[in-house]
Amino acid sequence: MIDRYSRQVLFPGIGRSGQDLLRTKHVLIIGAGALGAANAEMIARAGVGHITIVDRDYVDFSNLQRQNLYTEQDAIDRMPKAEAAGKRLNAINSDVRVTALTQDVDAAFLESILTRNNIDLIVDGTDNFDVRFILNDTAQKYRIPWVYGACVASGGLSMLIVPGKTPCLHCLMDTMPGAGATCDTAGIISPAVQMTASVQTAEALKWLSGRTDALRGTIFSFDLWKNQFSSVDVQRMKKNDCPSCGTKPVYPFLSYERTTKFAVLCGRDTVQIRPADVTERNLSELAGHIQQTADITHQNGFLLSFQHAPYTVTAFKDGRVFIQGVSSVEESKRVYYQYFQ
Ligand SMILES: [Zn+2]
Repeated sequence: MIDRYSRQVLFPGIGRSGQDLLRTKHVLIIGAGALGAANAEMIARAGVGHITIVDRDYVDFSNLQRQNLYTEQDAIDRMPKAEAAGKRLNAINSDVRVTALTQDVDAAFLESILTRNNIDLIVDGTDNFDVRFILNDTAQKYRIPWVYGACVASGGLSMLIVPGKTPCLHCLMDTMPGAGATCDTAGIISPAVQMTASVQTAEALKWLSGRTDALRGTIFSFDLWKNQFSSVDVQRMKKNDCPSCGTKPVYPFLSYERTTKFAVLCGRDTVQIRPADVTERNLSELAGHIQQTADITHQNGFLLSFQHAPYTVTAFKDGRVFIQGVSSVEESKRVYYQYFQ
């Protein structure tokens, strides 16, 4: 174990003292899709002490083109991404403590994990602005820096958001982006993912090793197909009256209500249903009930999938349900309420 970080210690930006600091740090990675997986691998190899990785989805064959932690076997077994990522990260670096959580990320979850743990930095591996704005508010409230990252097609962008220092995501975008442009309509190439994640991880390593003098302090964006790169200084866009990071913050995205939530998953013909009051589902009891009327296709301790032609229904241990093969939330509700109350 002595030599595994030798090249990183030789690098003057990090050195022995930076490497020792990395070992004491805890990073929370939100999402284990393309960006989350790429960040997680680099952060684990770099020797950050503790990684917590959270994701709500399972591995699908269409992920393998760009999500670097997963294998065909993970897709065959329909492994939850967080679990598959955790296993792979442990195999890459047993020196690193990895906590894998298969669940949805909302305000309640983020507040609870940030108050119970000493998180030093949050990495954005999400694919939607709903979660990013909740993440932004929570990070501001608990004064934890986070690295924004997003990519689509052949481009991407990234910025490290430091509470009290840089503008926040809310300062930079007055309103929620419309639902028009989603990843359903555009494809993506793997280099765009790796590039965005590399920029995110570089800022993460600077922050975690205490080299704040090296931080970029700009929004970096690029397009690898059009060969364009830009770095924009946005410091003057920090707003004193920002509801998320201004002088009187109200954290507007942290007010949440307890209702059953229906969400269309990005890039999939799938709707996620999160029941208000089910926090744990007994999968073997459910299996006994389901197998009388439908064919169970997958069951692995974390989830249970069955066919309800033309739909695939997946029930997770944490209470959530995916209905795949639907074209609207209404359609998903019809299927959902046949099996769950
Ligand atoms: Zn702000």
